[in-house]
Formats: sequence, structure tokens, C-alpha cells
Amino acid sequence: MLREARLARWLGGLERMYQWHHWTGMAAYVLLLVHPLALSADAWMESPALAWETLSPLNQNWPVWMGWLSLVLLMVGLAATFERRVPYRTWRALHAGLGLAVLLGLIHLVLLGIDEPVLPILGLAALLLGWRVIRGDLGVGARPYLVKSAVPVADGMVEISLMPLADAVKVTPGQFVLVAFFEGPSFRGCGEFHPFTVTSADVDHLIRLGVKALGDCTRHIQSIEPGVMARVQGAYGAFFANRLATPQLWVAGGIGVTPFLALLRSGPVTQPTTLLYLYRAESDAAFLKELRALAEADPRLDLQAVATGSELPDLNSLLPDAQRLAGYECYLCGPPGMMTGLMRALRSRGIAARHIHFEKLGFR
Ligand SMILES: Cc1cc2nc3c(=O)[nH]c(=O)nc-3n(C[C@H](O)[C@H](O)[C@H](O)COP(=O)(O)OP(=O)(O)OC[C@H]3O[C@@H](n4cnc5c(N)ncnc54)[C@H](O)[C@@H]3O)c2cc1C
Repeated sequence: MLREARLARWLGGLERMYQWHHWTGMAAYVLLLVHPLALSADAWMESPALAWETLSPLNQNWPVWMGWLSLVLLMVGLAATFERRVPYRTWRALHAGLGLAVLLGLIHLVLLGIDEPVLPILGLAALLLGWRVIRGDLGVGARPYLVKSAVPVADGMVEISLMPLADAVKVTPGQFVLVAFFEGPSFRGCGEFHPFTVTSADVDHLIRLGVKALGDCTRHIQSIEPGVMARVQGAYGAFFANRLATPQLWVAGGIGVTPFLALLRSGPVTQPTTLLYLYRAESDAAFLKELRALAEADPRLDLQAVATGSELPDLNSLLPDAQRLAGYECYLCGPPGMMTGLMRALRSRGIAARHIHFEKLGFR
């Protein structure tokens, strides 16, 4: 997961890279789990005692224990992938342990005297992990920006304008960037890269981001001030790529309104478009006034803004019926739970998966 914008574009987007990353990781993990069993099965031909000796971590030496340590790290890291209740930060630390596990596994082979083709693979793994840490996590090569303004737009949400200090990132409406905020006159950022959708990209290369307080870092960002340094990676995402000239249904859940806002700010819609904007309460509904003004000025845009309260909304009663949706392209963006419900409701109306496009607001 090198998170290089150019590479992501070439491979069909960061989301697709994550899918490949997960599937190849899982396949490699299954093979790794099977290999001590395969070695033991091979030894079984000679004697069951030898098979047990091969499998048991007891009475072994350092090279083999290093292999076991690698497998244990892999098991813990991957178990966390399936346990949704693990906090994101803990999950990230455990996930990073997988990289360490790969290195330990390869060193285990070298210590066993198997250096071909292990040494070149070890070199490549170290290079790619180093690349990811230095360029991705430490942000070497990310573009420097300065916070120009920060305006509250709803309860627990602020819109931040960023001014480039060098080359600006190239953004199309609906794309997102990875941003880390650092220090300002009296603000100390958390310094980690987090993904945020660009809500508008101006001609003078200013970019705007709407940041909702969803966790420790984003809660802290609510008190950001002009003059804070930021670093920006990207842009990523192909949510609105290859849009067809057909009527459209856009469904936004809470902060999921940001890509639709970006598209509307870039110009009027070209097809009849319904934007169903779901939020808990009016005080949470960021950009609602602006969206209402845009809908009033554009006869093709139909805005349906619905306060759902704290209960999960009845999506079936909110969505247009199957007959109205025939021939529509549907675009969904919101929290993962809502997206699953929306997908189910649209599929039950006979909408084929290829007509449903979505952006999930979380990588895991
Ligand atoms: C493509 C995309 C676009 C997004 N656009 C916006 C936006 O326009 N406005 C907005 O307010 N939020 C947006 N988010 C969500 C935002 O990134 C998270 O709310 C933020 O990272 C939370 O960080 P935290 O430390 O405050 O909270 P935490 O409690 O650490 O995390 C809360 C949840 O946010 C997600 N998250 C946290 N850190 C990361 C990370 N480094 N990378 C990916 N996901 C992470 C995880 O799903 C996690 O469970 C977007 C997310 C994605 C993936």
C-alpha cells in the first residue's frame, strides 16, 4: 500500500489497491499457515515422531522460533482485521506488525540457510516497507500547505481552506486527499495523515476540506487556526469517474455530503439529479443552506434533506420506488452501516450493481 497518487490512478484507484492488498495478503497468510503443516506432513513419511518434532516449537533453535514469532504476529494482525470493535489506532499498530512479521519470516529463512531467492525478496520487502513509512507515513514528498481559514459549518464540523506553499495537488470534484496538520501559533496538530474529501478546489489552487469530529484527531482539528502548517498527499479517488449521461440519484449520509457538494460547487448538474441528504438533526446538517440555494437556482437538481434522528432511518421509505429508479445511476457516500443498508435497498428495487457507485468513508 504505497499510496502513491500516480500508482493509484494507474491501478484503478486507492480503493481497488486496498482490495488487492487485502486479498493477496489473505492468500499469502493461508500459504504461510499451511507451510509448517506441509513440512510436518513430509516428515510424517519418515516417522510420526519426526513430524511432531518438525511442527512443535519446543526443542527448536532461533531460526525456527523466529519463524514462529513471525506467524504469531501475522495471526494477531490478521485477527484484528476481522474484529471491527478494535479501535482504529490499535488496529493500525497491529496491522503495521504484519510488515514486521514479513521481515522476520524472511530472516527466518536466511538463518536456515535458504538465501535464494530469499535475499532479493528480503531486499525488495525492506525497500517497499521503507518507501511506505518514509513517503506515506512520515510524509516526505507530501505538498506543503498553510491553513488560511477555518469556519464552523455545523455542530462538530469545520471547513478548512488550505493554501499551497509550493506545487498544488491536482484535484477533480469528488476526490480526496490525505492531510496531516502540524503546528500553528497556538495549535498542535496530531501530525497523522487522514483522508478528507476536497469540497472545492479554486483556480488559485486553494483547497477546502470539511472535517467532522469523529475521533480524537478530528475532534482536535475543530479548534484549528489560520497559520497552521499542513502536508497534503494525493489526490485520490475515482468516485465520479466515467459518469454516464443519465438521471442520477445521489444519497449522502452526514459527512458523506462532501463529494456531492464538491461536484455542485464545480458547476450546475447536467442531468436530472436527486440529492437525498440524510442527517441526524438540522444542527448537524453541514452546508444545508448552500445546498438549498444551489437547488433553488438549478431546476435539474432536486434536494431532499431529511433529519433522521438518532435511529437508523427506514431507507426503503426514503428511496424512490423501482419504477422511478429505472435508468438511474446511483451514487452513495456515507458511514459504512448506512452504505450496506442502501445497497440492500437499491438491489431489492432491481438496480444492478454496475449502476451503484459508492465511496466508503473508512479504510480497513
Ligand atoms: C475516502 C475518504 C474520504 C473521507 N472524507 C471525509 C471528509 O470529507 N470529511 C470528514 O470529516 N471525514 C472524512 N473521512 C473520514 C475521516 O478520514 C475520519 O473521520 C478520520 O480519519 C477520523 O480520524 P480520528 O483519529 O479523528 O478518529 P478515529 O477514532 O481514529 O477513527 C474513526 C474512524 O475513521 C477512520 N479513520 C481514522 N483514521 C484514518 C486514516 N488515517 N485513514 C483512513 N481512515 C481512517 C476509521 O474508519 C476509523 O474507524 C473520509 C474517509 C475516507 C476513507
